[in-house]
Amino acid sequence: MTNYIDFCKEDSCGLAREDLDLPNLSELEVVRYFTNLSRINWAVDVGFYPLGSCTMKYNPKINDFVASKFSDIHPFLDVEDIQPLLEILKELEKKIAYLVGLDSVSLLPAAGAHGEYTALLIAKKYFSTRNENRDLVLVPDSAHGTNPASASMAGFKVLTIKSNNEGQIDIDDLKSKISEKVAVFMITNPNTLGIYEKNIQRITELCREYGVLTYYDGANFNAIIGKLRPGDMGFDMVHLNLHKTFSTPHGSGGPGAGPIAVRGFLSKFLPIPIIREEGGKYWFDFNLPDTIGMIRDFWGNFGVLVRALSYIMSYGKEISKVAEFAVLNANYLRKKIIDYFIDPFNAKFCAHEFVVSASNYKDKGVRAMDIAKRMLDYNVHSPTTYFPLIVEEALMIEPTETETLETLDYFADIVKKIVDEANSDPNILKEAPHTTFVKRVNDALASRDIKPTKRSLKK
Ligand SMILES: *Cc1c(COP(=O)(O)O)cnc(C)c1O
Repeated sequence: MTNYIDFCKEDSCGLAREDLDLPNLSELEVVRYFTNLSRINWAVDVGFYPLGSCTMKYNPKINDFVASKFSDIHPFLDVEDIQPLLEILKELEKKIAYLVGLDSVSLLPAAGAHGEYTALLIAKKYFSTRNENRDLVLVPDSAHGTNPASASMAGFKVLTIKSNNEGQIDIDDLKSKISEKVAVFMITNPNTLGIYEKNIQRITELCREYGVLTYYDGANFNAIIGKLRPGDMGFDMVHLNLHKTFSTPHGSGGPGAGPIAVRGFLSKFLPIPIIREEGGKYWFDFNLPDTIGMIRDFWGNFGVLVRALSYIMSYGKEISKVAEFAVLNANYLRKKIIDYFIDPFNAKFCAHEFVVSASNYKDKGVRAMDIAKRMLDYNVHSPTTYFPLIVEEALMIEPTETETLETLDYFADIVKKIVDEANSDPNILKEAPHTTFVKRVNDALASRDIKPTKRSLKK
């Protein structure tokens, strides 16, 4: 069986609804509504967006153009008729395998967290075929929240590994927690503090001694792309966020892709279908006896995958410049503003992002959130706040490789203005933002108690 329709018929996934209660609006009303909404929204195409850990960089429009050429292709087409599309997917698999230094790739996962979850299911299956009973996953305390969440969704228990005073893995803590009960060790490197784990090879070797699989969270691959490969650091599994590093815009849950790559001994567990090639002919292989099964419908988010291939190919051998500029820009900006804050780890350099603590303004009643909100009045998006959790009053800043020197200088200037205000007139910050369409909101309530309505766009 190589055909999705046949597969679906057997699996009887007829979940489509017959009716939908859609509002009765004219096209003009809908167009105006969404166009106006977009004009009160912040976007990387509008201004600076230094969101740490979530890489909000400019994505070249040429890659949207390339992806748009494939927008009319239906996933039910016969494989005979979509051979060039499978070639695109295969080509992207090969390029990703090369960039991360591992053997086999699945392009199916729809997001970073979905890639983590898929890889953890692979780990689970791997240990169950070896009759090994391992139910623990180790995650550093600086990890992105999706790491422990994916581990626990996949049925593992999470043990947290402490960071030391350099913002790196505390090796003694790792040694005290690692055992033959541990299935997977997950880490981001550079970690979410923007610090490169200098002991990474020692860590992956230690894991191997205990038979623990190692997982590299490559969501922010712009930090090392073309320079370093997780496979060479000793990792067994990796995911990438194509919607951060590889030219697909992200935010608001739009389509993304979180492909995973694994070492050869894990290939047989990859989700189906697998794309095969023989003598220039491509097909989807559903017959993988040890597969973890299907993890989504169809073949992945094709438009996102096309953008990624287009992005990789347009850089070619120059792709390491992405990492060079990502790291250069972050270090430049860090030097310019670090003295206004507390430097949590006194690191000499940072990687593609850095974290400062705004706890030195607490005595004025000013918190990291107030500084972040005030930035909106100066026409930049705020950085990530209160993450990683191990830094008090954290502001996590990632300028990205696509910003100009002028923009970085502008940001440094407004940070200076804002901290001056914090000292002289803290209320300006506490009531910020003043100039945006929507004023200060209760962020927690806004996401916990969602009431979707068509709101009036009048000021
Ligand atoms: C963004 C991010 C993720 C999760 O990616 P999603 O696509 O949002 O699921 C995981 N790890 C790190 C370090 C990230 O920055």
